[in-house]
Amino acid sequence: MEKSIFQRIIDREIPAEIIYEDSLCLAFKDANPQASTHLLIVPKKEIKSLDDISVEDESLLGHLQLVIRDLAREFELIDGGYRVITNCGAGAGQTVFHLHYHLMG
Ligand code: AMP
Repeated sequence: MEKSIFQRIIDREIPAEIIYEDSLCLAFKDANPQASTHLLIVPKKEIKSLDDISVEDESLLGHLQLVIRDLAREFELIDGGYRVITNCGAGAGQTVFHLHYHLMG
């Protein structure tokens, strides 16, 4: 199966403005921002969408929430507020089929 564009970013095959990385996930700036701060938080594990998570992913998903919380603080989004979105399925607007969270503030 062909790699998703986010897998190619994780594998450093294509560039992205990476702002955070740890052993479980990567965060980078959205190439087509819909807000003054628009980040994407992506697990390194290949999971297509929220519909494809399993019980084994429970701690990974909790970790992603903590990373999102920390990035929101780092980018000073607390006062103005922020949104966290994941599109699940083409009908909801998902265009990259590798689980990701939009952080927008
Ligand atoms: P979604 O529509 O929820 O699947 O979100 C995919 C997001 O990925 C969109 O907001 C795109 O602007 C963004 N995107 C696509 N390709 C890249 C890329 N190479 N680097 C950064 N963001 C990208």
